[in-house]
Amino acid sequence: MEFDDLYQEIILDHYRSPRNKRPLPHIPDEQVHENPACGDNVKLEIKINADNFITDISFDGSGCAINTASTSMMTELLIGKSRSEALELTGQFLTILRGEMSPELLDAWGDLTSLKHVVSFPVRVKCATLAWNAVHQLLSQN
Ligand code: ZN
Repeated sequence: MEFDDLYQEIILDHYRSPRNKRPLPHIPDEQVHENPACGDNVKLEIKINADNFITDISFDGSGCAINTASTSMMTELLIGKSRSEALELTGQFLTILRGEMSPELLDAWGDLTSLKHVVSFPVRVKCATLAWNAVHQLLSQN
């Protein structure tokens, strides 16, 4: 798989220094989300305040570069957003990654622009969307 050098650099930066990744020993193993196709796994913790704003998202687990970078970028995007904004953003990202909206939209999403070529690699789409699916579900439930 080939990415433009710039995109590759952004992805590797998040992979090597993931944002908001920390041990979450109190999150039970039943809440680990897995992508068996690649071996990615992730635990997530979302903190939402009384006004329904996300004050923190942290994650732990092990994944490939695309998986870890995508999760790291997601935490940066969603912290500070309201629950409804976050639901909309995660829903939109998943729609884009399914190929149902233009990947060029990600150009307006900061570092996430580096993932727009992933759409062309169905196997990698699962890596990129694992944590987004999980967060989208968690936000719709609670
Ligand atoms: Zn992966």
